Amino acid sequence: MYGLMQDRPLSLPHVFHRAERLFGHKSMVTASPAGETRVTYREWAGRVRRLATVLDSLGVSAEARVGSFAWNTQRHLELYFAVPCTGRILHTVNIRLFADQIRYIVEHAADEVMFVDRSLLPILWPLADQLTGVRHWVVMDDGADAEIPDDERVHDYEELLAAAEPFAGRFEVADENTAAALCYTSGTTGNPKGVLYSHRSTVLHSLISLTADTAGLSERDNLLAVVPMFHVNAWGLPTAAVMSGADLVFPGPSLQPAALLGLIQRHRVTITAGVPTIWMGAVPLLRDFDLSSLRMVIGGGSAVPRALSEAWRERIGLPITQAWGMTETSPIASFGTLRSQHDGLDTATLADVRASQGQVVPLVDLRIVDPETGQEQPWDGKSAGELQAAGPWIAASYYGNESGAGSFTKDGWLRTGDVATLDEYGYLRLVDRTKDLVKSGGEWISSVELENEIMAHPGVAEAAVIAKPDERWSERPVACVVLAEGVRLEAGDIIEHLRPRVAKWWLPDEVFFLDEVPKTSTGKFSKKTLRERFYPEGMP
Ligand code: ADP
Repeated sequence: MYGLMQDRPLSLPHVFHRAERLFGHKSMVTASPAGETRVTYREWAGRVRRLATVLDSLGVSAEARVGSFAWNTQRHLELYFAVPCTGRILHTVNIRLFADQIRYIVEHAADEVMFVDRSLLPILWPLADQLTGVRHWVVMDDGADAEIPDDERVHDYEELLAAAEPFAGRFEVADENTAAALCYTSGTTGNPKGVLYSHRSTVLHSLISLTADTAGLSERDNLLAVVPMFHVNAWGLPTAAVMSGADLVFPGPSLQPAALLGLIQRHRVTITAGVPTIWMGAVPLLRDFDLSSLRMVIGGGSAVPRALSEAWRERIGLPITQAWGMTETSPIASFGTLRSQHDGLDTATLADVRASQGQVVPLVDLRIVDPETGQEQPWDGKSAGELQAAGPWIAASYYGNESGAGSFTKDGWLRTGDVATLDEYGYLRLVDRTKDLVKSGGEWISSVELENEIMAHPGVAEAAVIAKPDERWSERPVACVVLAEGVRLEAGDIIEHLRPRVAKWWLPDEVFFLDEVPKTSTGKFSKKTLRERFYPEGMP
């Protein structure tokens, strides 16, 4: 027997219309080198309505993929709504990819139109003649002095908006499973793969960010959207902010720690999220700013070192809350808020809990599977295996690649490529990414755990552990270490620091000192680059 409730679609038009009606007075600030601009939600909503008309007048087709190549700005958020609310699909292109990758994904997605920030034209416009499917280029002028091409395909965003009548009615997307947004994984192995979010998945994922045991976003918040809007929709937080009616601050092109901390101080930001490298860079400056408005700083995308979270707690009284996810999981799947069983625990134990990836969120299922036997592992905090995920905002397949390239199990779970444990309370602990594990003498060494221990040394700013090919053990760990400013240490000091903390056979064979750990297009440590640099001959 079916329930007798209304079958209404979970769709972004609802989120948009509610925000327009309830939160018209709330604000969105965008920073840029030219200064800050502020609009109200009401003004923003009016611009979304005009943009909807612009898409029609440019002749963008009904289910078109609409590309964006842009920083985090209020204009980008206009695209986040105008495109899906008119039934089209926003493809946020990662501005840090190489030309070949950009060409591949824009062609694969068959983008019809590209919205590009003026400051980013020098990267993208040189590819214009190869991106033959892109019929219109709309330049969002951010005050940069990049030359605007004299070409009939090129339009000015503000001119188009000014000339357009605002769409007057209610946006409708009747089928909640309609695609809303497209993001490509960064393709560390093979070609990038497209993850195609639906209205339903986006709305449910936004709702989860409003729950108290995750980000708990509410109308009282002011979100600083640090995670790039081209990276898993900035972890879904700007959309969730619109759903909750929170104020928003967009950093524009500058992600320098001082610029971000300045925004937090000036606008009394309450919540923000970013990859650990961003929060690491901010540590030396934390005491120079008034950050008392902050209630939550979310870290994810790669492991948040225990020492990093503790550095924040010691300096401003607020540790970093860790979350885990991936492009394929929208991304929020686990969240590190503490539970009642953690009340009263001592500081060190709490720091250990925070160094985990947090508890699995409602509506998502996680399981740990032995990669060899396929057996599901117990939730005992010890048994490690491949982490698999299922749920309404987890990808079922890739766009234009329905076979899934081995990323999905026969029973429809996503194979994450991460190795993890789950404990009896549902707290996830990532051991490593499968490809980053160091396999020494048939046993695993967790590069993540070693890095955590190395970064606990007060003289160390960053550490990345990679595998070195070894004839006897097959692989051995080596540490690549960046020292804090003004610190001098020898390899032996790092080893002595580790000796009481890890098993003897985990001690790195070598310690290299670097000026900087190379980063991926999404700001994570690029171990692939390190492996290529130190061991170009590859594994035996
Ligand atoms: P990529 O890193 O390939 O660009 P994603 O941005 O989708 O792709 O990253 C997903 C991966 O990032 C996860 O599979 C996991 O390995 C890593 N990751 C995400 N959050 C965390 C976290 N809190 N701790 C450790 N690793 C994380």
